[in-house]
Amino acid sequence: MEKICKKCKKSKELNSDNFSKKKTSKMGFDSMCKQCKKEYDKARYDKKRDKLLEDKKVYYKNNKKKLLARQGEYYQKNRDSCIESNKKWSDNNQVRRRMLCEKSRTKKHGADSTLTEKEWLLIKSYFFDSCAYCGIDEDVYFELSGEKLHHEHIVPLIKKGSYSLGNVVPSCRSCNSSKRNENFSDWYKNYKFYDELREKKIISYMNKQIKSGVDNV
Ligand SMILES: [Zn+2]
Ligand SMILES: [Zn+2]
Repeated sequence: MEKICKKCKKSKELNSDNFSKKKTSKMGFDSMCKQCKKEYDKARYDKKRDKLLEDKKVYYKNNKKKLLARQGEYYQKNRDSCIESNKKWSDNNQVRRRMLCEKSRTKKHGADSTLTEKEWLLIKSYFFDSCAYCGIDEDVYFELSGEKLHHEHIVPLIKKGSYSLGNVVPSCRSCNSSKRNENFSDWYKNYKFYDELREKKIISYMNKQIKSGVDNV
């Protein structure tokens, strides 16, 4: 049996390869084909995300001074408690598994791989548990996308960028795929979610200005 997709109007064989199962519908399948559904979901996600980030950008602009002062204080005061709360996450082994996967991927490209779990948690708290590029919070991101922030190589793997402190940042999928293999400073300046504060933070990070703290963790 064939079914015409509501969206692309193409006729496709009615099976679970082409249409998602949907109990509430008459035929038992979604009215859109899987391919259209995927595009539809992505568009919806992008719209929601862009709206959230635009709001955040406006807020940033209006409260820059206050935020700058607060972020510095926050990092100093809460570093320990951030690390503590992040530890809870690592308990479920998710972090560990992700890191092993990243490490083997990095090694395959012949790049150095030295990042430790402690360092990754420190990096995340340094970036306030949000995407280093657009600033979306990991919790919000998880709600929207169902995944945690990616381990992004600032200098890309293809250019032998290492999996190490100073080169790996938390990033959402959209920023990660927008950056791809581009040079950070060229790409970020023209990025739609460019932010001066975050740029400075990333540059400090690349210069390993958080390294001194790691040994004391
Ligand atoms: Zn379709
Ligand atoms: Zn992002």
